Amino acid sequence: MGCLPTFLRGQGKHTHRERRLDKTMFASSIHQLACGSRFGALGWALGRVSVNATAVVACTDVRLKQYRGFHGSCKRQHKDDADVHAKVAEYLKEDEKDLPKELMGSHPDLEDVLKGNKEWVKKMNDLDPEFFKRLGGKQHPRYLYIGCSDARVDPLQLMGLPQGSLFVHRNVGNVVSNTDLNLLTVVDFAVNFLKVPHIVVCGHYDCGAVRGSIAQPQDGGLGLVENWLTRIRDVARLHRHELMAIEDPEAKHRRLVELNVTEQSLNLYKIGTVQKARLDSYQNKDTQMALPRVHGMVFDASVGILHKLPMDFKKEIEENRAIYDMYKSPK
Ligand SMILES: [Zn+2]
Repeated sequence: MGCLPTFLRGQGKHTHRERRLDKTMFASSIHQLACGSRFGALGWALGRVSVNATAVVACTDVRLKQYRGFHGSCKRQHKDDADVHAKVAEYLKEDEKDLPKELMGSHPDLEDVLKGNKEWVKKMNDLDPEFFKRLGGKQHPRYLYIGCSDARVDPLQLMGLPQGSLFVHRNVGNVVSNTDLNLLTVVDFAVNFLKVPHIVVCGHYDCGAVRGSIAQPQDGGLGLVENWLTRIRDVARLHRHELMAIEDPEAKHRRLVELNVTEQSLNLYKIGTVQKARLDSYQNKDTQMALPRVHGMVFDASVGILHKLPMDFKKEIEENRAIYDMYKSPK
């Protein structure tokens, strides 16, 4: 793949009018380069912008904005090309004059984020000068954490773990669905490549997804979200007798949060990737135990406590082997 600064050599000799015409080509080339590069996410983002060919020109300014991040990465790789990078910076600066204000990247909230980041970097460097050297190395997380997207539930913070300890997947209601390609990919990568020995499924009390899942909306409810919440409604159906016996609405909610974690943990076992890894590690002379192990937990944000659910995962699996096993057990 060609280097972006190389592509931009000589941009300085163009007139401003030519630059305006160049912008479309410029952005399209960025797109091609990015799509063929390891910057897959950027390629995807730019690709989305270019789906409609007629929108290419209109979206050029947006693309230029997105390009700035790409330029930063490229700059790190080609430290010696100072003159080229200076030209790129100049080129982008001139183009930004024409950008709408909201695309200029300045927003009070974002300023706070960037300021907070700098303060955090300073604090961590003061505490441990080797911290970022370690963090910049390879990841070796011990846990795959599957939790709710709720803003109050910060996995690293509530588990008291340092950066790099968790591989994380979050969604509304900490659902483990075997039709969710995102989740399946995360699980596959964590189990087969990162070899995490533990998977934590973590729910939390006062969960909006769980509350919504037993609501009886008469007007279509939450719309699209309702399709997702059906998976938690299924949990309520499976355990309806226990739940119906609980009169206090808050106690019923808290119990459903726990039952949801239990069922989503069991859903992990229904995924072939997990079953195969557990069988292989059980037969492996070095490990001789079924890994990864699955743990169900619930976080109580009102007091900050993380509870481990008294769930016998092994027993649950044994009882369901006849239904869900995809691989022949050695016994
Ligand atoms: Zn939640």
